[in-house]
Amino acid sequence: MAAEEKGHIPFAVPDITDREIEAVVRCLKSGWLTTGPVAKEFEKEFSRRMGGGVEAISVNSCTTALQVALKALDVGPGDEVIVPVWTFTATAMSVVHAGARPVLVDVDTVTLNLDPERAAAAVTPRTRAIIPVHFAGLACDMDALRAIADGHNLKIIEDAAHALPATYKGRLIGADSADATAFSFYATKTMTTGEGGMITVADPEIAARCRTLRLHGINRDVFDRYTSASSPWYYEVVAPGFKCNLTDMAAAIGLVQLERLDEMLARRCALRKVYHEAFADLPLELPPDAPEGDIHSWHLYVVKLRPEAPLDRDEFIKAMAAEKIGCSVHFIPLHLHPYWRDSLGVTEADFPNATAAYKRAVSLPFYTAMTDAAVERVTGTVRRLLKRGG
Ligand SMILES: *Cc1c(COP(=O)(O)O)cnc(C)c1O
Repeated sequence: MAAEEKGHIPFAVPDITDREIEAVVRCLKSGWLTTGPVAKEFEKEFSRRMGGGVEAISVNSCTTALQVALKALDVGPGDEVIVPVWTFTATAMSVVHAGARPVLVDVDTVTLNLDPERAAAAVTPRTRAIIPVHFAGLACDMDALRAIADGHNLKIIEDAAHALPATYKGRLIGADSADATAFSFYATKTMTTGEGGMITVADPEIAARCRTLRLHGINRDVFDRYTSASSPWYYEVVAPGFKCNLTDMAAAIGLVQLERLDEMLARRCALRKVYHEAFADLPLELPPDAPEGDIHSWHLYVVKLRPEAPLDRDEFIKAMAAEKIGCSVHFIPLHLHPYWRDSLGVTEADFPNATAAYKRAVSLPFYTAMTDAAVERVTGTVRRLLKRGG
């Protein structure tokens, strides 16, 4: 890594090989740049990767995937949607843009995933949907959430931005785990297209609505019209759609990344093993593993500093930065952001688990292109900082 050679270890960098670069160049030379044959192929391969039981609809981000899915499932004004407070703002903002109200719910202290008991307690007659986030790549308790959803006739729309490829009870998240699942191909996620996202849906009618909604509410995409001999110019606007289709250039990157997904997962699992072993005796809570037999996709490696650690979280991140090692925090829980605090009228006391976890959580550098030398520098530095005085 060029960045690492300069002595700086970034928090995350994308893993791009010559294969992705060549695929983009081929696409650029093909004469078709926007959504076309490569995006179609990417969707087909993604659906196949999910076991073939769902359709895959490509979009330009996970954020728009959530927006399209909410609209396709008819969530709108007057509705409430349960969202974990421990997430990125996009999860809840997609609900606001649907005209509905996000209801923030606290998370489990260990997994930082939506707590089903608290979710059940947050259900009202207005609740229409739940958006679980599989934090860091560890699947939520989907059986418990499904029971709540079935008991109250709610939809489940997964924010699976971290969860490719993760499994719950042996089945891939996105294969049949929800009414709709939204994936992210943002630059630092487990696979990338630069910017991009995917919706997986089992119901063909909902899938068709998603396809229409992602492109202006038009019932035929440009490529369909281009390749149609009889009426290349005719289309109809049938819904109030968005404009969030994925370009073929991005899909070209995605096809290669999808092929490399298992190889990249193996590297993430190897990194997790090195970190787990190197940090076992430090004053840290290590991230929980998936239950036996399930796959954790290890998008992030988040540790929590124990109260007895010689540094607090902010001091730790500063000390790491002084050693030219980039850390991050996932997440600043939503209730601590001014917009969410003020618009929803929430306070720290409403979310004791998220508030406590936030003060102690750090995301360590964690990416497949990390060199062994960089891994050693991170583990060595963390050990030195946290063993100090102890
Ligand atoms: C990254 C992320 C998103 C947004 O993904 P984009 O593809 O950048 O829109 C949504 N939810 C979570 C939990 C994320 O981490």
